[in-house]
Amino acid sequence: MALMITDECINCDVCEPECPNDAIYMGAEIYEIDPRKCTECVGHFDEPQCVQICPVACIPVSPDHIETRETLWQKFERLTSAKAAEAPRAGDAPVAPTALG
Ligand code: SF4
Ligand code: SF4
Repeated sequence: MALMITDECINCDVCEPECPNDAIYMGAEIYEIDPRKCTECVGHFDEPQCVQICPVACIPVSPDHIETRETLWQKFERLTSAKAAEAPRAGDAPVAPTALG
């Protein structure tokens, strides 16, 4: 299930950097979660990291995005392969100069 942020959010900024899927972003007034990217942390952690860290407990499951664990795994795999495709190839990495004796 994707999670959502309710209007009790106090914009404390702590959840955004914790999301392994970059699903949390600043919306018009409060932080929001992109349901296409939220896997409820499946594939990364045992517990949703944003829920763990939120000081006002304003991140429930979104009733509009009920998903099975299997679906969340598929989403995780899709996001991971998309990320891998974006990553620079090993040959593109800058090469450290070799020390000459
Ligand atoms: S549950 Fe995990 S993946 Fe979903 S928004 Fe929170 S930190 Fe990100
Ligand atoms: S941790 Fe909770 S209160 Fe803080 S920005 Fe995220 S959703 Fe809002």
